[in-house]
Amino acid sequence: CGIVGYTGLDAAKDILVSGLKRLEYRGYDSAGVALERTGARGAHAAEPAPATTIDVIRRVGKVSGLESELAGIDLASTCGIGHTRWATHGKPSQDNAHPHTSCDGRIAIVHNGIIENFVELRSELESRGHTFRSETDTEVFAHLIEEAYAASSDLDAAVREACTRVVGAYGLAVMCADEPGVIVVARKDSPIIIGRGERGSYVASDVIALIDATRDVVVLEDGQFARLTPQGISYTDDAGRTIEPEITHVDWDV
Ligand code: GLU
Repeated sequence: CGIVGYTGLDAAKDILVSGLKRLEYRGYDSAGVALERTGARGAHAAEPAPATTIDVIRRVGKVSGLESELAGIDLASTCGIGHTRWATHGKPSQDNAHPHTSCDGRIAIVHNGIIENFVELRSELESRGHTFRSETDTEVFAHLIEEAYAASSDLDAAVREACTRVVGAYGLAVMCADEPGVIVVARKDSPIIIGRGERGSYVASDVIALIDATRDVVVLEDGQFARLTPQGISYTDDAGRTIEPEITHVDWDV
């Protein structure tokens, strides 16, 4: 139902929660976020760079409930994605709430829309050893991206590849622990708006969640992809070629 994402200089947690609150008017049954966590650096210079992992926090009910749960968690994370879910496949429950993750937990996704061929895709993926943890149509996306990423180590290519397999509608935002600070976004028949603010890069399913950060936005079109980093945003088409999308200025007030 609602998507928000942020990567930049500030704490992502607060930006995601206030974005999700802006999207509450659309209605939803559960809410969740995925936040990058960078491990503590060892005392010796010779120790390897700290490993990045992804924390997922989800719950049934209001965003304010998610917010209180997050208040108890000390996360300085500057990259994350969030979602309010309006269940279409699978009852409202913590397991069915987004974000959904790959088997290894290193890829997290949020999705708006419906994947029509998820039953076929799920049994195909299960036959190749994937274990599913929800009843949603969405979860196939996490496993498809996991497989493609294992083959290419290229998150943009993996998301493009997964999008060729699904039939249906999607607004999609993806994080991968192996590409810290990056959010990859795709859309088909479900709105995605992207914006660049002074302190980071933003994505949402509705411009209302972005206007505190920027009024110059890109309305992503079907078949277009975006890669958000703390430094900027790049856009590609379904063949991975760079594109220069039009910027729309939002001049209304809320
Ligand atoms: N079809 C997905 C689900 O049921 C996404 C629903 C939504 O757009 O919130 O989990």
